[in-house]
Amino acid sequence: MLLADRKFAFEEHLSKQGLCLARKSPSILQINLGKLCNLACVHCHVNAGPGRKEIMDPATIDRVIDWIARSPSIETVDLTGGAPEMNPDFREFIVRVRAIRPDATIIDRCNLTILLEPGYEEMAEFLAFHRIQVVASMPCYQPKNVNLQRGEGVFDASIEALKRLNALGYGTRSELALNLVYNPIGAVLPPDQGELEKDYKTALRAEFGIEFNSLFTITNMPIARFLAQLRREGQNEMYRQLLVDNFNPASIDGLMCRDTISVDWEGRVFDCDFNQMLGMPLGGGQNRLLWELDPEVLEREPIATGDHCFGCTAGAGSSCGGALD
Ligand code: SF4
Ligand code: SF4
Repeated sequence: MLLADRKFAFEEHLSKQGLCLARKSPSILQINLGKLCNLACVHCHVNAGPGRKEIMDPATIDRVIDWIARSPSIETVDLTGGAPEMNPDFREFIVRVRAIRPDATIIDRCNLTILLEPGYEEMAEFLAFHRIQVVASMPCYQPKNVNLQRGEGVFDASIEALKRLNALGYGTRSELALNLVYNPIGAVLPPDQGELEKDYKTALRAEFGIEFNSLFTITNMPIARFLAQLRREGQNEMYRQLLVDNFNPASIDGLMCRDTISVDWEGRVFDCDFNQMLGMPLGGGQNRLLWELDPEVLEREPIATGDHCFGCTAGAGSSCGGALD
């Protein structure tokens, strides 16, 4: 398919192949606690950074926790940002969710470097105490690529943070999962996840003695800061075509929008984090707030899609949990 024909191409791809993208019962609540971050990575689809002011406030947090308490289908609470730890109520949020849902999986999407920042020195211990799964950005096992994408010195800081997590049992104790996230440096698809995971494990163990559980490969989405980079480098159309040309129908069943509700810092709901950044409300309708939503009635509801969805279905597929196929 040529780019010129791409209007509504994602939905066309699905219908031509007899595929339908509809919701299952939601089991994952992904919460964006704010756009404040200590880094400003070039690929960031949130446009997060040190100057951002959008932070989920205590009243919104109360309502989100109330909703979790009355939504038994939610098995995973996935905290993201920005750097979610920079929300002043991050710790209290976790303590309260753990109290009402002792067996839930709680994920902290951590940029690692925050664990070394002044005021966050005890954060790794706190996460371990509450059995929080850490999903950590680590776009390469070599310094050059990491520093290029995330900023000078980020590689060394990430290694130090990983060692600190390992010392607490992360990556080796079953209840302390430590998963790393790879995304390509430029306008290419990620390589094979299994092969790359082997390379990461070999290199990080040999060089630094670091252990981790799994590597998630994630495709860069052509939105926000990465879109600006593509445009600056004259690669936007080429990259979009690459995603379209590599459409993989086998990825559809595992797309994260099927069982996830994404919540922004003000409590509005979306089908995924990417739609949240694009301002596309859940199901393509009006903006709704989490506490107005009955999770029981979401099954088989439509999902708001657009051409950016080719970023999730290209190659081996891509989600917050890595490749899909
Ligand atoms: S990619 Fe993650 S660490 Fe980097 S600026 Fe965005 S939120 Fe922060
Ligand atoms: S961008 Fe969001 S809505 Fe589109 S396929 Fe990916 S997860 Fe689903």
